[in-house]
Amino acid sequence: MNEIDRKASAAPVCPLCGKPTDHAFRPFCSKRCADVDLNRWLSGVYAVPVKEDDDEDGERPPDSEAGEPS
Ligand SMILES: [Zn+2]
Repeated sequence: MNEIDRKASAAPVCPLCGKPTDHAFRPFCSKRCADVDLNRWLSGVYAVPVKEDDDEDGERPPDSEAGEPS
């Protein structure tokens, strides 16, 4: 049982350069990488697809079951 090995390999790394992340700049390793990511956001590289909600007439919270909340 080498759980320590598994833990080590699961350590978070910077998505940009692959270095271990720094607590201060999570999920990045440094301010530099955080800035790079921010610039990508600002320049529209990360286009988030907008999903249209076709359930507009049914105003039901997802966690309300078919019961009466007194
Ligand atoms: Zn980095």
